[in-house]
Amino acid sequence: MGILLIHHLEQMFRKYELTARDGAELSQYYERENGVYMKSKFFETKKVNDYITQIIGLAGEQCYLIEGKKRALLFDGLSGEGSLKSFVRELTDLPVQIVLSHAHPDHCGAIFEYGECYMHPDDIELLYSDFVSGRKERWNFVTAVPEWAPPLRTETRLEDITERCAVKTYPVYDGDVFDLGDVQMEVIGVPGHTRGTIVLLDRTARLLLSGDAINPNTLMALPGSATIEEYKESVLHLKTFQTAFDLLYGGHGPEPVPARIVDDALMLIDKILDRTDEAIEEYDHLGNRMVLRAASVGSDFFPLYGGISHIVFYVDTQFGKRGKVIIRTAPVNSPVKAIGNPHV
Ligand SMILES: [Zn+2]
Repeated sequence: MGILLIHHLEQMFRKYELTARDGAELSQYYERENGVYMKSKFFETKKVNDYITQIIGLAGEQCYLIEGKKRALLFDGLSGEGSLKSFVRELTDLPVQIVLSHAHPDHCGAIFEYGECYMHPDDIELLYSDFVSGRKERWNFVTAVPEWAPPLRTETRLEDITERCAVKTYPVYDGDVFDLGDVQMEVIGVPGHTRGTIVLLDRTARLLLSGDAINPNTLMALPGSATIEEYKESVLHLKTFQTAFDLLYGGHGPEPVPARIVDDALMLIDKILDRTDEAIEEYDHLGNRMVLRAASVGSDFFPLYGGISHIVFYVDTQFGKRGKVIIRTAPVNSPVKAIGNPHV
């Protein structure tokens, strides 16, 4: 959200300027190019590998469709501009279940079409806040295009945004495994960006689908964010899996980042906690509060210190814990463990 939006929009337009189409061609409903990706007014796709497809929303937000032999998993639901459920139906004939990396407006949109989703229970309250699921708020996210950016591929309309409704939520915890047949996606809890943030590890492809958990501009000053001290525990937990993946595919930014971002983040977190980070003050238009940027960044929003990780946070959530176990592991009878055979 916010600063990150500008960052990924910039990356997106740079990345896709060679594939830009004029209005007439863009208005075609679907277009397939070289069998590699599909495009609609609202969505376009890129293949990560044979069974994982990245789907990019109108504002550059990204989700992932993972197709196993028996079923498919949609990791995140974009902002809700256009019918992602219909688009996914074009991509696969498999039954699809949706899981949220976290409850933010640019990730939850399609759950209101599916009517149910897997998510970490610590984000449920956040999900129903206006900031996250309000229709106008999600529309604002899509339309918040900076003046210098090229126009969106199509006109956005409030009526195209999925209507918020009550959603059946199934709990998902650290340690759960989504078994899609021949593909297993392992859940790792990384609370920080929000308290219910999870990521998915694919040990076979050695990649992590990381949502907004850890990226070159990790926002820790948003509704639902944990403290920096709590985030450190999460990143240390993620580090115990670091040898199992090479790349992280996130919720924004077209290119994956290498696994060493985990070490960069830990280094930066320690600087923040020691108050030796750069602590650059910046006005946060979302929360109308002053935020601190841990390190200087270039015009591409990547940090200038040479590493990949960067963190934006509130000074009053730098320290402290809220007295709660933040990485909740899956209970033995977790319903997600049964996803391989949902009728049992
Ligand atoms: Zn987010």
